[in-house]
Amino acid sequence: MGYNKHMAKLLGFEVNEFTFDEAVEFAKQNRGHVVTINPEIIEQTNKDKGLAQIIHEADLVIPDGIGVQIGLKILGYNVRRIAGIEFARRMLEEMKGSPIALIGAKPHVIEKAVKNLQAEIDGLNIVYCRDGYFKNEYNVDEYKKAINDIVSAKPDLVLVALGSPLQDYFIYELKPKLPNALLIGVGGSFDVWAGEVERAPEIYQKLWLEWLYRTIKEPKRFKRIFPTLPLFVLKVLLDGVKNVICRRN
Ligand code: UDP
Repeated sequence: MGYNKHMAKLLGFEVNEFTFDEAVEFAKQNRGHVVTINPEIIEQTNKDKGLAQIIHEADLVIPDGIGVQIGLKILGYNVRRIAGIEFARRMLEEMKGSPIALIGAKPHVIEKAVKNLQAEIDGLNIVYCRDGYFKNEYNVDEYKKAINDIVSAKPDLVLVALGSPLQDYFIYELKPKLPNALLIGVGGSFDVWAGEVERAPEIYQKLWLEWLYRTIKEPKRFKRIFPTLPLFVLKVLLDGVKNVICRRN
């Protein structure tokens, strides 16, 4: 990544210190791959070096989730979290007149999300959409076909909701074929826009307890959050101590 603005360093990853509006402006002007980083993704990179490399090569890495904000605070950076879903929604509004591609989620989910977005954002120019479940039928690799179809649709904005790391690999393959596009991995955002999954009420968001609300609603998330979140905080603390010791010596 190459920005003018200062970067925070979190467990070996550069995270941008932009405010929400600065990140929007940067994304609009510079395009490329946006990663909304969170403790779960950072944890995955321990096992998945390809994913780590993709994040290093991303054009904008924004701190999604309270875990990252706390981690950065421990290391002395005063960075506010930028919720990936809000960032992606704002980019849809900012770029609504440009060709837009959406891919990911279950077929009925993407269909409903597109309908809702079109009702909410006047003039939204969706040129391509499909679900995120690929089969390999009749010798047609649907994954490869989706890549080719998106490239042919020539979008300026592509939202990929396949979850991590699948969405990151998908964007990595797409990026050189669409050098002027903005490509964002948006996780479960389509489920929220379709009304299938509720976002935590504002009070939870303000109290930094969105993760708790999501865990109550989807108990299977418990396994994903614990022990990832406390372990992440511990690793950041150790990293901070290591850096202080190294600076002293
Ligand atoms: N998904 C998909 N194809 C797959 C696996 C997942 O389209 O092969 C979708 C899934 O339906 C959901 C999204 O990817 O809409 C991932 O959501 P999740 O909540 O796991 O992502 P997070 O927001 O936690 O990154």
